[in-house]
Amino acid sequence: MADSKHMKRLKEILGAAADLNAASALLDWDMRTYMPPGSMESRSFQLASLEEAVHEKMTSRELGSLLRKLEGEIGKLDPDSDEYRLVKKVGRDYDREVKTPPSWVRRNAQAVARADTAWGKARAAADFRIFAPHLQNLLELKLEYISFFEPAEHPYDILLDRFDEGMSCAVLNRLFNRLKKDQGAIIRKALAQEKPDASFLKRKYPASKQLALTRRVLTRMGYDWNCGRQDRSVHPFTTSFGLYDVRITTKVVDGNPFSALFSSIHEGGHALYEQGIDKKYARTPFADGASFSIHESQSRLWENLVGRSPEFWAFWFPAVRKMFPGNLETVSPEEFLAALNVPEASPIRTEADELTYNMHIILRFQLEKSLIEGKMKVTELADAWNAGMKELLGIEVRNDVEGVLQDIHWAMGEFGYFPSYALGNVISAQLWDAALKQEPSIPDSIAHGNYAPLREWLRTHVHRFGAKYNTAEILARATGSPELDAGPYLNMLKEKYC
Ligand code: ZN
Repeated sequence: MADSKHMKRLKEILGAAADLNAASALLDWDMRTYMPPGSMESRSFQLASLEEAVHEKMTSRELGSLLRKLEGEIGKLDPDSDEYRLVKKVGRDYDREVKTPPSWVRRNAQAVARADTAWGKARAAADFRIFAPHLQNLLELKLEYISFFEPAEHPYDILLDRFDEGMSCAVLNRLFNRLKKDQGAIIRKALAQEKPDASFLKRKYPASKQLALTRRVLTRMGYDWNCGRQDRSVHPFTTSFGLYDVRITTKVVDGNPFSALFSSIHEGGHALYEQGIDKKYARTPFADGASFSIHESQSRLWENLVGRSPEFWAFWFPAVRKMFPGNLETVSPEEFLAALNVPEASPIRTEADELTYNMHIILRFQLEKSLIEGKMKVTELADAWNAGMKELLGIEVRNDVEGVLQDIHWAMGEFGYFPSYALGNVISAQLWDAALKQEPSIPDSIAHGNYAPLREWLRTHVHRFGAKYNTAEILARATGSPELDAGPYLNMLKEKYC
């Protein structure tokens, strides 16, 4: 069926907004890779102007009346059709935007800018008290934001919705309580075991060869270099400027010679998702991941379930041994794999392994929830953090930099973001289980360096839909059930570490 006049106009507006978003993503990519430091201030003006232009387009009176007309028209369409879904999605985003007053957006942006500076100072002094009044201010702004919307079952649900539509505090409580208990037991058992020898990882692994290895692996994964590229940055990330340009970055870490590889596999997982979205969704809001958690499930599936598996190294270990002569001649594949999977509890989230990572998220979720519920004061946060680290991972936090000040998320006013990381872990194992049930040959192909069967399964069941469906709908399509289930992830950890 041909698009109606209104649908055509809607797609024009969305296309123009997508172009502006792509332009600002390109400026942001440049800022984090090659921009000379002196142009920081002018770059932030450019980004702010583009953001404002998008905001104007997406909250315009024209779009509002167009959406009202289309709401009436789409009644005739299949509720699963792209057009029906598009109107619903844009309508939800429009509502959220217009309910947020411009005065709040301005005050919040100013508060974030001040908090960011204070966060830097607090880190330099390792003193949370410097940052606390700013966090208090951001928390009050979040509570005000929550008041703009219809009350949800839990006020935190309104914050979650921005990252994961339909996700709720109730679901997270259930899931995280199970992880706390069962994953906690696995962690205690794994950490008590004797550590394998990993001294050969301390030898010299030239950076240029580390990077060459990442390119070889990405190529085999199916990363499309014709519509992407890889550069270096302080923190590895993936970004896209539409569906035909999906870029990744990596970094080489001294003393950790396979960090560049694992971060590249991780970002490669994000990138394959974006590159696998059906091209008919280009320049629409569907040219994106289903949610932060589904996006993270893709990176973690490739990084942990593929990249840290014996099958993966059955293919790559001989090549790696050849690439770094003198380093691994006397090391067996089993010893090498064990060294890459040494369980370790770190106070720092970004350094945490697949075994302990979720505990870092559970701590942040509990604290955010207590703050939002008013059950805890910001001034009590650092002590509560340290007590939580002790309880969950047995770690004594030595100072606020390796404790409550370690993440930038709260300084950016991002509450409700953290859970998506843990959900990504849980979902990665659910998808992996489902893929292997339908395609039992996947591990054997991986052992031969062939990732096509896995990649194509993900493309068919997850990637191609882009943001047309939400987390629960993707899960239902791929696994047969919309429910989050910690079982597969816990089984994977048990098998590997116990
Ligand atoms: Zn990621």
